[in-house]
This record gives sequence, C-alpha cells and structure tokens, in this order.
Amino acid sequence: MAEQNLFEIVQKQLDECAKILKLDSNVHAMLRVPMRELHVSLPVPMDDGTIRVFQGFRVQYNDARGPTKGGIRFHPEETIDTVRALAAWMTWKCALLDLPLGGAKGGIICNPKEMSQGELERLSRAYIQAIWQFIGPDKDIPAPDVYTNPQIMAWMMDEYSKIAGKNQFGIITGKPLCLGGSAGRDDGTAQGGWYTIGEAAKECGVELKQATVAVQGYGNAGYYAGYRGKTLFDSKIVAVSDTKGGIFSKGGLDPEAVREHKAKTGSVINFPDTKAISNEELLELDVDILIPAALENVITEKNATNIKAKIVAELANGPTTPEADDILYKKGAHVIPDFLCNAGGVTVSYFEMVQNFYMYYWDEKEVHQRLDKKMTAAYYSVLNISKKYNINMRQAAYVVAVERIVEAMKLRGWV
Ligand code: GLU
Repeated sequence: MAEQNLFEIVQKQLDECAKILKLDSNVHAMLRVPMRELHVSLPVPMDDGTIRVFQGFRVQYNDARGPTKGGIRFHPEETIDTVRALAAWMTWKCALLDLPLGGAKGGIICNPKEMSQGELERLSRAYIQAIWQFIGPDKDIPAPDVYTNPQIMAWMMDEYSKIAGKNQFGIITGKPLCLGGSAGRDDGTAQGGWYTIGEAAKECGVELKQATVAVQGYGNAGYYAGYRGKTLFDSKIVAVSDTKGGIFSKGGLDPEAVREHKAKTGSVINFPDTKAISNEELLELDVDILIPAALENVITEKNATNIKAKIVAELANGPTTPEADDILYKKGAHVIPDFLCNAGGVTVSYFEMVQNFYMYYWDEKEVHQRLDKKMTAAYYSVLNISKKYNINMRQAAYVVAVERIVEAMKLRGWV
C-alpha cells in the first residue's frame, strides 16, 4: 500500500494551501490534526471456533460545518495515519461540495477476501457495538468505502437500531434500497466523477464520444466508471485492471461483460480477446482519460513523467503524490483532484440522509439532476480559482474548501 505516509501528504498539501491563503497560524495548527479519534479492539468469533481480535479506528477530523461523514474501509494494511488522511480529505470534500457536513473515516484491519459472510457480519456488528456512542445521525454518519458494501451497511444499521431500540436508518448511508438507501448511491461516485470529466473535457477540448479511457481498479467505483463512461458519453473503455493485473483492448471493452467475468473467475484478467497488461502499464497508456479508481499513491515521481492521458480523473482517494502532482501540472495534464472527482459518493450519501429524515424518497432521475448540479458547481468553483491564482486544480480545491471551513470555525468562535 502506501509508500509515503498518507497523513504527511495531507499535511503537506494543507501547508501549501496555508501559504497561498496566508492562513492564520492558529487556524492552520487546528486544521493540521484530527479533532477526535477512537481506537477499538473487536473480538470476533470465527467459523473455526476461535476468537480473533481485530483492530478498528474511527477518526472525526473536523465538524465545524456539521456532523462528520465518511466511509469505513476493511483492509489488511489499514493504518491510523491512512484513516486520518482520509478523514481530512472527507472534511475538504464535504466543504468543497458545500454539504452541511464535516469529515470522518473509519477502518478495520482485516482481509475481507478471506472471511466468510458470517464472520463479516459479526465483525460489522462488533464494530458498531464498540463505536455506537461516538456516532449518530446528527453526530457522525458512516458509509461504504474500500471492501465494504450495502449488506455491511445494513448489518451496521441494524446493530445500531437494536442498541437504540428503534429504527435508525439515518445512522449510516449506502444502505440497500429497501432499507432507506437512495437511488443512485451505488454508482454515485462514478456518475459524479463523469459529470466533472464532462466539464473537464470541454475545458481541454476532448471529444468524449469514442474518447479512450483506462480505469485502474474494478471495485464499485472502477466498474461503474467504465459502465457510466460508455452509457453516458459513449466513451471507449480500452483498459481496466484489478489487484491481479489488467486487460487491454484497442477496440474497447464491454464493462458489463468484464464484470460478469470477474464475478465468475475472481478477476478481470484472462478476459477473452484482450492483451494482458500490468497495473503500471495501464497508468502509462496513451489514452485521453485515465481514471485511477483503486488505492492511494499509485501515481508517483517514478511514473508521472510517463503518463500520457490528457485528463486524470481521480476516483480513488489519494492516488497521486505531491511530487507527481507537480510533474503532471508542468506537463499540462488536467487533474481532477480526488476530493472533487469522487465527491459524488458522499453527495448522494447526503441526499440519502435528507431522504431518511424526510421519510420521502426520490427517483434516480431526480438524484442525478441534483448530483449534476452539485458536481458541476464544485468543478467550476475549483477551475475558476485555479485560473485566478495560477495554481493547480488540487491547490485550488484546497483553497475553496479550506476557506469555507475556516469561515465556519471563525463564526463559531473557535479561533
Ligand atoms: N467513502 C466515500 C468517500 O470516500 C463516501 C463517503 C460517504 O458516503 O460518506 O467519499
């Protein structure tokens, strides 16, 4: 996983933003660290009769703008610093989209690929038993992230509801549709990402119809990135990958057929009539649009010079290191930074919260219209600042988000 400590990357990005904004040193110091974090041990009965103790975290980074919000990751190499970094990015993300929310993130060190459904359910329930006093529909609202899904959200919601003694659908988002989930949440991250790519393509003069696209990662975000690229804009998905490797097809792939192949065989590799490529090769393909949709730190100073894509749309959190950022900017690549590009997930999560409070549900068309409006407004707020100050898109996104958070902190009398 992370070669560089992800939280140090976040602090470096924030320090840069503080310089651009001439940020007050007290505010800067407060924003450099999380407000609260919880570390828990989770004893879980395993199928073989033993008890395994898992380690879990929940970090609430900053709640100046509202209750904290952010996903829960199940990952074997999870660390507290990774969770801190992701919680900070959630804070910037919610502010950038102008959602009335702060930022948080959770993580459990585990390998879900080696666990049965029963073990996953017991782990999910144990996590809620350990953190329930720390979260709440008006306090901190978790959601899915890497290797967690609507079923896991359903177990967690059920466990919290049992403790509360009443149905509490608003405790978590990304739930199945019949349990207070929102239309458009499953593919919200990819759909939102494509709204920003649509605007970026106008800016960069890229014709999206038949534009070539490479997607790294074939989880929820990666699969839908391919699928939506094809259905929304008729773009050509020429390469995709997962942890086992990648596939390339000059004529374009059918994302749905690749998904079926992965469901059957466990990977996208060996899909008929494709050329095998590595994850590293995928990033350096001569394509119009590159979509990193897997994990952090994949575009580094080592490969950034070889990246040929005109638009780099960061559906993953933290795929690009600060050194690589500089290289891409100088090369003229248009980077749609993670906490802008992948904000569709949390934006539809916010819509899900609103619908839960309201007890009235919107159809997919309404969700997409509202999402498009939010993503497009956020994209142009970043693009305009980037042009005004002559800074890259990530620095501009920081400027917009941090200014909004600081305003809330000041008005609340924190600084
Ligand atoms: N895990 C997603 C993210 O990184 C969504 C978080 C949410 O819906 O709260 O943005």
